[in-house]
Amino acid sequence: MELVCPAGNYPSLVKAVDQGADAVYIGFKNATNARHFSGLNFSEKHLHKGIEYAHQNNCKVYCAINTYPRQDGWQTWTSSVDMALDIGIDSLIVADSGIMDYIRSRSDTFPIHLSVQASATNLEALNFYHQNFGIKRAVLPRVLSLKQVTQLAQKSPVEIEVFGFGSLCIMAEGRCYLSSYLTGESPNTQGVCSPSSHVRWEENDGVLKSRLNNLLIDQFEEGENAGYPTLCKGRFEVEGNIEYALEEPTSLNTMDILPELHQAGVVAIKIEGRQRSPAYIETVANVWRKVIDAELKNSAAPTEQDKQKLTALSEGRQTTIGAYERSWQ
Ligand code: SF4
Repeated sequence: MELVCPAGNYPSLVKAVDQGADAVYIGFKNATNARHFSGLNFSEKHLHKGIEYAHQNNCKVYCAINTYPRQDGWQTWTSSVDMALDIGIDSLIVADSGIMDYIRSRSDTFPIHLSVQASATNLEALNFYHQNFGIKRAVLPRVLSLKQVTQLAQKSPVEIEVFGFGSLCIMAEGRCYLSSYLTGESPNTQGVCSPSSHVRWEENDGVLKSRLNNLLIDQFEEGENAGYPTLCKGRFEVEGNIEYALEEPTSLNTMDILPELHQAGVVAIKIEGRQRSPAYIETVANVWRKVIDAELKNSAAPTEQDKQKLTALSEGRQTTIGAYERSWQ
């Protein structure tokens, strides 16, 4: 079972590798990946350095080219694939079938991982991508119960990777356009949810307000944890009550069901968060290395203190096992 960690930049990559990640995933500085935030991602020069550092330490480097190209931007996506194939990337994480076809026109065997953005939730979808594009692995959307993940993993023609820790979307993987209603940009098109160019913070009389393209998303009293303003996690007035109308800020943490995921045949645990700081990556990778080693090698399990570190880094300081625990699915 691999520990797959996010690396939004070179310092984060180094932290993840040093803490024992089996693989890191990265993106280029363009709209081809779903974390196209300013100041994030890899130039060609830093990528060379990062791949060298990772490979010297037995860590693989996966590259996300997982947004959906429009016709007028097609060449940006194909030249990004070309660069990834030429530079020594170990696998491409892809959602769009046109891009998969392009990869196969360049190489019959280069490993393709089906991105969570492709939202493949059933065996037929996995068979389709396997038969037509020879994908090696699929990252499952965070909408399936543990029972469904187990059933899929047992019959899947490809390796299965699932998310283990990090922020949650409202479970519309690859299909959420909420951000584009307010900003014209969403993860599936421009690779960014709630772009920072549209975010404004203002503080008055101890109250901190967050706005996205001028729409008030939330406000925080002194001492309250202020989250990044995404539309799905805003507090709005609904029938007289001010509440998280769509989704509460909370992080996924599957630590407690890792034995079941392992037994089901899941081969990789993904940590969400290429937008996170190197210090965050260091702590999460450190604790999750212990979690996986305790399962695989029977080594010491994470301590209470380790668990608290993860909770402290979680959105709203809360964690959940999300859809995995839906008994009705
Ligand atoms: S608006 Fe929310 S659910 Fe949609 S992509 Fe952004 S974080 Fe995910």
